[in-house]
Amino acid sequence: MDEIVKGLIKDEHVLVVAVNCTEVVEEARKIHDTWPTATAAMGRVIAGTLLLASTLKDKQKVMLQVKGDGPLQEIVAESDWLFRVRAYVKRPHIYMGLKGEKIDVGRAVGKGFLNVIRDLGLREYYQSSVALQTGEIATDLAYYLNTSEQIPSAVSLGVFVETDNSVKAAGGFMIQTMPQTKPEIIDFLERKLSQCRSSSTMILQGLNPLQMLEEAVGLPIELLLRSEISYSCPCSKDRVINAVVTLGKKEIEEMIEEGKTVEIECYFCKRKYELTLEELKNILKDI
Ligand SMILES: [Zn+2]
Repeated sequence: MDEIVKGLIKDEHVLVVAVNCTEVVEEARKIHDTWPTATAAMGRVIAGTLLLASTLKDKQKVMLQVKGDGPLQEIVAESDWLFRVRAYVKRPHIYMGLKGEKIDVGRAVGKGFLNVIRDLGLREYYQSSVALQTGEIATDLAYYLNTSEQIPSAVSLGVFVETDNSVKAAGGFMIQTMPQTKPEIIDFLERKLSQCRSSSTMILQGLNPLQMLEEAVGLPIELLLRSEISYSCPCSKDRVINAVVTLGKKEIEEMIEEGKTVEIECYFCKRKYELTLEELKNILKDI
């Protein structure tokens, strides 16, 4: 069952977060009709975004964008503070075979950048980006947290795709130490994590997120939060109109000259919105 948990290692200054987002990633796969390599990459970005969302305050949002020169081109996921997540991948029909036993996400992403955009509410944004290290997403996200946010972090993300292309497991975990964390605990965790099974293996074997964390760190955990997650897109006709306004006068005039109803599809959920000539003229009037 999909859920996210956040906690602390009992009596230690170590933050731990884990998520099982198998159902959400399967829903995203159906919406975008992704092929296995695209499914795995999108699933890892979704899981990573949900882990980041565990540090949000009320009304905040976080977006993770991975842009590379590989065939997938761009993958984006966005979550709000209630773990309502949405995602898309620019080129969904990508399958590049396996690298060992794993889907070769790194080659499909290629070289490029990972961007994190935090919407802190009240039109305040914080954006930061790092160069992709491997394109495997988990190492890139850990690199971002370690360098850009300067939080010592370990990240594991995994997606398992069935032979019928459906998602059998998707999720991950994140471990973050603090300035007060004892050095012997850091040494212990490094050893522990180097021997750890992959997130997708743990989910396939039926472990829930709390059990994943207990296995990963090998110490008791004090829960701070346990929450459901969902695939949800807040798009609406009003938001589509706002997006059209940002295109500018000239572009809208051209649309009107074409003389027909314009159909606009939401990137994230594929819902279609129609704007009639009348509506386009009204938008132009209001600019
Ligand atoms: Zn939408």
